[in-house]
Amino acid sequence: MLTALSCFALIQVQAQNLYMPRDIQKAFNKGTRQADGNPGKKYWQNHGVYNITITALPPDRNIKGTETITYENNSPDTLKRLNMKLILNIHKPGVPRFGDASPDYLTSGIQFDKFLVNGEPAKIDWAGASTNMAVSLKKPLAPHEQVKLDIDWHFQISLESGREGMIDPTTYYLAYFYPRVSVYDDYNGWDRLPFLDGQEFYNDFNDYTLTVNAPKNYIVWATGTLQNPAQVLQPEYVKRLEASMTSDSTIHVATATDLAKKDITAQKDQNSWIWKANDISDMAVGISDHYVWDAASAIVDDATHRRASMQAAFQDSAADFHHAVQAGRHALSWLSRNWPGVPYPFPKMTAFQGFADMEYPMMVNDSHTDDIQFSAFVQDHEIAHTYFPFYMGINESRYAFMDEGWATTFERLIGTDEVGAEKADQFFKDFRVDRWIHDPATSEDLPIITPSSELRAGYGNNAYGKPALSHFALKDMLGDELFKKALHGYMDRWHGKHPIPWDYFNSMSNLSGRNLDWFFNNWFFTNYYIDLDLQKISKAAGGYTANIKNTGGFAVPFDVKVTYTDGTTQTIHQTPAVWQNNQKQIVVNIKTTKTIKTVTLDGGIFMDANEKNNTLEVK
Ligand SMILES: [Zn+2]
Repeated sequence: MLTALSCFALIQVQAQNLYMPRDIQKAFNKGTRQADGNPGKKYWQNHGVYNITITALPPDRNIKGTETITYENNSPDTLKRLNMKLILNIHKPGVPRFGDASPDYLTSGIQFDKFLVNGEPAKIDWAGASTNMAVSLKKPLAPHEQVKLDIDWHFQISLESGREGMIDPTTYYLAYFYPRVSVYDDYNGWDRLPFLDGQEFYNDFNDYTLTVNAPKNYIVWATGTLQNPAQVLQPEYVKRLEASMTSDSTIHVATATDLAKKDITAQKDQNSWIWKANDISDMAVGISDHYVWDAASAIVDDATHRRASMQAAFQDSAADFHHAVQAGRHALSWLSRNWPGVPYPFPKMTAFQGFADMEYPMMVNDSHTDDIQFSAFVQDHEIAHTYFPFYMGINESRYAFMDEGWATTFERLIGTDEVGAEKADQFFKDFRVDRWIHDPATSEDLPIITPSSELRAGYGNNAYGKPALSHFALKDMLGDELFKKALHGYMDRWHGKHPIPWDYFNSMSNLSGRNLDWFFNNWFFTNYYIDLDLQKISKAAGGYTANIKNTGGFAVPFDVKVTYTDGTTQTIHQTPAVWQNNQKQIVVNIKTTKTIKTVTLDGGIFMDANEKNNTLEVK
């Protein structure tokens, strides 16, 4: 009896284990990650100290850079080579990319003028490199040793601005503008996935000192804290910027009238703007001679009363951007206190007008729209990315759902506060769910866990809508309190590190005290979609029973909406827990003494692929 029982128990446990690719298994076996969701005792990640100087003299399109990188190998492996990321090479003619490239997008990419490894010239084939470049090390880099790189490079900023580029002849947005060492990690070694202009990024947490040389009368905005405002700005503007650090109301640091006077910056030929940020995954820079500058700040931590600066740089004619600072203050404050409910982890955020609709650490680059509410929605989404991928070091190029899924979750939650639940839910359905659930294409129903690098047409829905729905389903099942406790625990364990999906799954089970493998298997490892089929309503003792088939397969929450013959109605909510034992077919009891007229299954934001079989009339 005992033997039979334990065999049965063992089979149950094994049956519930989530599929784990063999390279991921190796990391768990090596002890860098733990089955309870914690970083393993042998967890490590590599680190770099970047000292970068970049010179941009608009309207000259040539950008010159010089940097030293001190890269530390914290891994137990001896590295015979480094892999460099040269993201800007996406502009080179002929490199592989997902989309087309217009002539205005093409440039000759990164040109190296110097590349020294520990003071000696390195053999590099930069002319042939796309977005990855290997650098052989004469002396292999042993564990716990450092290597020093001295690099000079230049490139032309592209005329067409996507995630970076020339916004107008005297406004530049610089991102991914410096050669960096790729991530070397415990489950994949060197990250050599090419950047194809579709997926996003994967970066180590580094310490940066960035100097931006720009002509006088050009203002520079960047990731990090400006070290020398008094050297680059005239005293009046230093005063206004300083005042914004304690001001709830928007301070116009530089207006169009101020800009016209051309005395905002120090009047040297070139000013050197120095920025610092530590333990950050990237730096981005905006430069303009005609963008106006707004700033204020918001308390993001009630315990310490710490404020975060919210700034905006934009064309004076962009009505939506005149709201950017106050909308941003609301986002910083709301996200800090509600969802995820973790104090905004950085000292500032800058909204820069461009064409990217994209997040960068401490910066967003968003397009101007005529719809002020939509602009705020996009800005909320990009600011929400601060937590995922920047506070949590997500591998976006492989697991895009680990950051886009959360940004999409938070965007609906903050939207509920801003425009009300009804409007936020309708928008979420239209914008995030409808285009997936009514698209029968095979690629849309690929499992969410599919590496982002292998997705093409199915990338969007598998990165945004579907994982966001999984988070809402889990929140519904666990309840807000337990869901938040587990989410906070996961964030606490992994911020500043590189979590992978299994760390999330394992942490949520471990921290909620429930084995959620069945739920994660259902949502992340299957080709399921959403389609409930209300098959039968039967009279039963104490009321009725409803037979429901889960045709689509996802473990969704839903409402059973009952209308009685006397005209009254009743809504019975079902959490995803109803699918734990049988994910294909369930029976829901409807306790009542009244006579039912109709029953409808309503999933709300969990839109049903076929609503025709969701209602039954009882005759
Ligand atoms: Zn996003």
